[in-house]
Amino acid sequence: MLFGLSLVAGFFFTSLMFYLNHRFVGHGPLGKWPLLHHIRRLHLVHHRNDYNEKRNDHLILPFWARLSFLVVFFLISLISLPFALGYIGYVLYYGWQHHKIHNHDRHSNCSKHHYIHHRKSIKHNFSGTMPFIDKIFRTYYRKPLTDE
Ligand SMILES: [Zn+2]
Ligand SMILES: [Zn+2]
Repeated sequence: MLFGLSLVAGFFFTSLMFYLNHRFVGHGPLGKWPLLHHIRRLHLVHHRNDYNEKRNDHLILPFWARLSFLVVFFLISLISLPFALGYIGYVLYYGWQHHKIHNHDRHSNCSKHHYIHHRKSIKHNFSGTMPFIDKIFRTYYRKPLTDE
C-alpha cells in the first residue's frame, strides 16, 4: 500500500516539477539564470522545430540531460525507491507521450492540449500532458480549438 502511494506521489510530484520547469525556466524569468539557460535554449529549439521534419532531432534530450535524470533517480532512490520509480516512470511516460504527440497522435485530448501550447498560446498548457495541472494553476487554455 505504502509502496503504491509513494510511487503515485513520485509520478505526480514529477509532473508538477515538469510544469514549474516548463513555465518558469522554459518560458519564464528563471530561464535567464546560469545553467538554467541551457534548459530554456533546448526548449525554445523544440518550439522552433515542433512539427517540422527536424522535430525528432530535438525531441531526444542530449546526453547531459539524460544523465542528470539518472543521477536524480539514483539520489531519490537512496531515500525512497518507490518514489524514485514514480519519478522515472513520469520521465518515461512524458517522453513517450511527447514523441507520439509530435509524430502520429494529433487527435487525442493530450495531443490537442500540447498543440495549443505550441501553436495557439505559449502562455497556456505548460503541463504538456496533464491538463488538470493547468486548471489548478489557471493556465488552462479555455477557448475552443477551431483550426487544426
Ligand atoms: Zn513550451
Ligand atoms: Zn512539444
